[in-house]
Formats: sequence, C-alpha cells, structure tokens
Amino acid sequence: MMEFFEDHYLRLVTFLFEGAVQPALYRLGLMEWAEDAFDWLDFFLFGLLQVAVVYVICRPLEAWKPVEQGQSARAVRTDVAYTLLARLGLLPLLGFVLFAATQVRLEALLADNGWIPPTLEDVLPSLRETPVLAFAVYVVVLDFFEYWRHRFQHEWRWWWSLHSLHHAQAHMTFWTDDRNHVIDDVLAAAWLAGLAVMIGVPPGQFPIILMLLRLAESFSHANARIHFGWLGERLLVSPRFHRLHHGVLSVGASGKNYAVLLPVWDWVLGTADFRRDIFPRTGEPRAPEAYVRGGWLRQQAEGVRQLGRAVLGRTEKPAAPRLPAE
Ligand SMILES: [Zn+2]
Ligand SMILES: [Zn+2]
Repeated sequence: MMEFFEDHYLRLVTFLFEGAVQPALYRLGLMEWAEDAFDWLDFFLFGLLQVAVVYVICRPLEAWKPVEQGQSARAVRTDVAYTLLARLGLLPLLGFVLFAATQVRLEALLADNGWIPPTLEDVLPSLRETPVLAFAVYVVVLDFFEYWRHRFQHEWRWWWSLHSLHHAQAHMTFWTDDRNHVIDDVLAAAWLAGLAVMIGVPPGQFPIILMLLRLAESFSHANARIHFGWLGERLLVSPRFHRLHHGVLSVGASGKNYAVLLPVWDWVLGTADFRRDIFPRTGEPRAPEAYVRGGWLRQQAEGVRQLGRAVLGRTEKPAAPRLPAE
C-alpha cells in the first residue's frame, strides 16, 4: 500500500519536474541547481498534499459543527499564511534536511567518541522483523517526546515567550496548528529530528511519522464541536481535548492537555483535563497586542522582542491569569 503510494507520488514529482521545472532551469541557465530543485519540488508537493488532506477533512467538519460562529476573517487569514509558509517551504525543508544533516553530524560525533547509542531496534531486536510494529513503536515514542517538548514550551519562561504566539489566537481553526514563531519551528524540528536519530528511526519513516503527527495536530485545532466520548477521549486527541488546552484558563505553566496524538501521556502524568467546560473560549489574555492582531511579520518581530525580554528575565513566570470561570 505504502509502496504503491510512494511509486505514484514519485512518478508525479518526476513528471512535473521534467515537464515544468527542468525546462525553466535550462532556459535560465541554472541547470546546476537541478538536483536541489527536484528536492524542493518534492518538499513542496508533499506539503501541498498534506494541506489538501487536512482541508478536505477539517473544512466540512468546521462547517457542520462549529464551536464558534462568525470568526474574524483577518485572524484566520494570518493562520492560513502560517500554514502555507510552514507546509510549503520552511517546515518540510527543516524536517527533511535537518533530519539528514543531524543524522550525519551526530553519527560522526558519536563515532569520534567511539560510542554508538543503542537504538530501539538494539534494545528490542524483534522490531527488526516486524516493520509495522516498529513503525507503531516509533510513533508512540516520538509522540511522548512531543508531549515533553510542548510541556517545556509552557513551563520554561523563554520558550513560553514564543509559544504564547500560538496561544494568542482567539479564533482557533485547523489552520492554527502552524501558527508558530520561526525560531520555535526550528527548535521543534531540531528536537524531533535529533531524538528520532537517537532512537534509530529509519530516515524513510521519519517524514511519514511527522506527517501523521501533523495531521493529528491540524485536526485537533479544528473549530468543530467534536469529542470522542469517555474512552475515545483517552485514546486519541480530539478537537475538544486540544481546545481545552487553548482555553483562556489553561495558558502558561498551568497548561493542560499537552499531548499531540495520544492523551495517555497527560492521563498518566497528571496534566489531563477531561472534565472542565467542554469547549472553552480560547486565547491568551496576557499576550502582547501584536501576537493577537498582528500580521505574520509583526508577530515574528514581536517574538524576537519577547524572547529577548524573557532571556533577560524581564517577563513574569508563565502562569494562568486569574479570571472568573467561564
Ligand atoms: Zn500549548
Ligand atoms: Zn495548539
């Protein structure tokens, strides 16, 4: 199934490359960039495919059961810009290139020191014979790392100064997933790629795991009144589960529901909230004005300023605002 998909996908990339990109490069006398251009086209199409899949799934759900009616078009537009920038340019590049680069560097560094970290396959040799199980184990382990990254984003002052940009959106939709500061994107990619290399995720599987986690993330931001019931809420992150994370009472270090794919981490580590008001108002009441209403560029500039202030200790420790309950 996977091979069938990969095969057709590669054919499409090659077709577009030979039909459009290569002739253009030839005319412009840029043929020495052909290999890079091919890789870039690959990133671009992979990203476009993801955006299309997310759109086809989430848009009808948002139209069917919206939590919030009459959202600000301008606020949503900024998140659309974030998504296109992240999925069609920045994130794919970071994800794929950084993964490869990190792997090469890390392996060289470790080989120099004569130490090779045991990968999951060394610890559990049976994983080698059962690739499907191995894939599932990698997804679970990387999802656990994602839980911790997200928790640190809330608990560490400097990281919250960037992540609060993500929380400043009061009109949350599936586009909001990619509303992150560029520095935050770089850190996130380095975190996941670095850890993936450490536990021995095969490079071919990494983009697929990344895609899976990102699909779950986009879906969980949807402006849709959807929950999976008592048991389902504990098995898979739902739009209700993540909306509660974005609630005005769940910001900073008092965050709840950090999980990306599997709520079990919040459940086990005591940060789950399955009980509070099901679909709370979202946003970060203490976020700077630029984070709430600014366009992409203004938000990026403000992020650098906020990070600087946080590093110099000029911001308060992240905490929940004292607001009356909804
Ligand atoms: Zn968060
Ligand atoms: Zn979110």
